[in-house]
This record gives sequence, structure tokens and C-alpha cells, in this order.
Amino acid sequence: MKGIVFLGERKLEIMDFPDPTPGPGEVVLEIKASGMCGSDLKFYRPIGGAASMGLGKVSGPLIAGHEPCGVVAAVGAGVSEKQAKVGMRVMQHHYRGCGVCDHCNTGWRQLCVEGVKEVYGATGHGAHARYMKCPADTLVTLPEELSFETGAAISCGTGTAWGALHRLNLQADHTIAIFGQGPVGLSATQLASSMGARVIALDVSDQRLNRAKEFGADVLINPKTTENVVQAIKDATQGRGAHLSLDCSSSPQARQQAVQCVRTWGKACFVGEGDSVTLNVSNDILRRQVTIIGSWTFSTVGQAECARYIAERGIDVDKLFTRKWKLEQAKEAYEWFDAQSDGKGVINPS
Ligand SMILES: [Zn+2]
Ligand SMILES: [Zn+2]
Repeated sequence: MKGIVFLGERKLEIMDFPDPTPGPGEVVLEIKASGMCGSDLKFYRPIGGAASMGLGKVSGPLIAGHEPCGVVAAVGAGVSEKQAKVGMRVMQHHYRGCGVCDHCNTGWRQLCVEGVKEVYGATGHGAHARYMKCPADTLVTLPEELSFETGAAISCGTGTAWGALHRLNLQADHTIAIFGQGPVGLSATQLASSMGARVIALDVSDQRLNRAKEFGADVLINPKTTENVVQAIKDATQGRGAHLSLDCSSSPQARQQAVQCVRTWGKACFVGEGDSVTLNVSNDILRRQVTIIGSWTFSTVGQAECARYIAERGIDVDKLFTRKWKLEQAKEAYEWFDAQSDGKGVINPS
């Protein structure tokens, strides 16, 4: 089979790999949709890829793609019918842990006490290929109502937005400022709006802001053309600031503003990967009783809950995708995504 491999420095190659066969406790998925996530750019751009993000070492060419969704194509020894049957529609929780520690047992394999052993698409073979091998206990059922594309989005970007909104305990009477309207930020806008909250969307691209409006944003702010972003958020909240904020941009300046823009007792959450932030501890945090939360994706349970919520409320997650690509178009697809001015892409590798 063919698989997309990031070489670093914005280069990629489509390479040949043997079709995988499942070992004990494993399955092979036939991938129907493999989403392009913002963090893929963190692996696509630098030399060293995932290793530069503290996710572990990579040895040899590695298939990218960490939003896997498809059907079970083969089942290994010792996998029960309840876990996986050929033809079952599934998403995949894209981490492998020890499988027995407290975190693995509660569905948080990325927090494994022994360290996450593989992040599929980053330090283990991912979903930008026709087939993908993984442990059966990393599968999450895809509800009948949802498309494979929606399942792919839930497998990282949209699920990450879901996880962050839950970490923030978002309520319907809250105003939330969401920095960055890429795939995660836009999902957060869509979900927060569906939960009844008022959304202030921020992005340096007017194109992305217009999409945020379509996805339910109430107030749009472009930091590029706004002199004082924090003041603009205060102006939109009767001088108080937002109840909550979420940084999906990874920009050090946006992170600072995300902390400064919340009201007293407010909460700011960071989900954007990489880079850093500088804060004045007394003025930005202590004096106003601000809580800062880090949120890394979601558990298998959270992923299933997110999927059920989207199915039951009929939320149009497919609308996130503005481009669909064939595997052979990988180069063009990532050059397009790298510009970060449009929506989300998905690769159909079959
Ligand atoms: Zn573990
Ligand atoms: Zn991701």
C-alpha cells in the first residue's frame, strides 16, 4: 500500500509499505477518511517532526495522519466480537499506552504512566494510507448517523475542541473567546454555539472569521486590524471580559490575550500545540483569580460522547471540510493546508 510520509521542512513523499496484518489483540482498519489536523503542520514543518513536540522518537519512515476513521478489515487473535468485527464502522483513539495503568484504564492512553508508546500518525504508522494496524481497544464506535469524514474530525480536531469545552465547564450563559478559527477553533465555535454559549471568534484571516460566523460566532475580531484585542473583548462583554477563553492558535501573543481577556474568576484554556507564553503572574493571573487550563485531546470515553452528541443534535461537522483529497494529491493538499487560510481537508486513501 501507499502511505504519506512527512520528511520535514514542508516536504513529503508517498512511499510503499507492506499491507499490515493484525497481531494478537490488534485489528487492521480500512481507512475511509483520514483528516488533516492543525497539529499535522507541526510535524510537516520542522526537522524532527513529532520528536520536536515531546512525543517520543521516530525511527524510519512513518505514515502520517492521526484522524483515522474507517471499517474493521481484519481482526487478530484474542479480539472479542464485542471489541471488533469485520465491517464495523469505527473511529480510532490515536494513542497506544501500556494498557493497564490507571490512565490507560480510564481511556487516557496518551497519559500512560510509562509514557505514551505510540501516537499514531506522529510516532507510529497513521491513517494516511489504505490500511492501518492498531490495538482493538483503541477503537471507538462510529454512530450510524455520522459520515466517515465526521468521524475523522472527531478523532482529533473536533474531539479536542469538545474536550477543552468540557475542561472549561462551558455553560449556556457563558461568553467564550476562541482564539484561532482553524479546524479546532472552528469546531469549538460550532460546539460552544450549539451548547447555547455566546462566542467571540478571533482570527487573523477574514476568510476564517466569515466561516466562524456561519458556524455560530456572535462577535468577530481580527487581531491584525484591531488595536487592542483585550479591550475589544471587554467592549463586547460590557467591560467585564469573557467568562472563558480558549487558545487554538499557538500564538504566544494570542495566549497572553486569552488570559488577559477573561473576567475576574474567569478561565483560560490552551489547546494549541508548541511554542510558549509570557505572563505577568500578579497582574494577569493572581489579582483576578484566573484559572489556566491545559487540555490535551480527550479520552476514548470523551470521543464516544462527542460522537453521540453530534449525532443526536444533528451537528453538521462535515461542513468543516472544504477540500477532499485523494492520497496521490498529498503534496498539493499539504501545501494548501500549510497556508492556514481556508478550512479543513480530508484524505480518502482507498
Ligand atoms: Zn498505561
Ligand atoms: Zn490533531
